Amino acid sequence: MCEQDGEKITTDDLFEKVLGSKEVKKIATADWLAKGTELFGDDPKLWRFVCPNCKHVQSIADFIALREAVGYEGEVQNAYYSCIGRYDTRIPEKDIGTLTANPKSPCDYTLGGLICLAKTIVVDDEGKENPVFEFATIERITITRRRRR
Ligand SMILES: [Zn+2]
Repeated sequence: MCEQDGEKITTDDLFEKVLGSKEVKKIATADWLAKGTELFGDDPKLWRFVCPNCKHVQSIADFIALREAVGYEGEVQNAYYSCIGRYDTRIPEKDIGTLTANPKSPCDYTLGGLICLAKTIVVDDEGKENPVFEFATIERITITRRRRR
């Protein structure tokens, strides 16, 4: 259970929000990379990921641009791990979404926090499991827009 902005939501509510279930799939790194290439092409910088909390769509290229814009010094791989609202200092703090039922977008969500909303876990060659944001496929963006109305 977490409470923010006076709104109470349970962990189950949050999972429900992430495409309707708590189902998590595990995928080998090579298969995940193949899927990204299939969806978006050979340049991983242009692959699009969707924040499970606020549905913001972002890419590694956005984080590279953030370096130039605000001197962001973190890893650009955060594109599939943390919402860019967490790092974009140009956005006033009050306008950054938090972990709520209907967050502003972008938000400050990260998979590294207490509540992991990942639907996909990438398993590397050593068996280490890394939760990631979902690929932002066209269908997913459409579904999200429909749901938000
Ligand atoms: Zn977000």
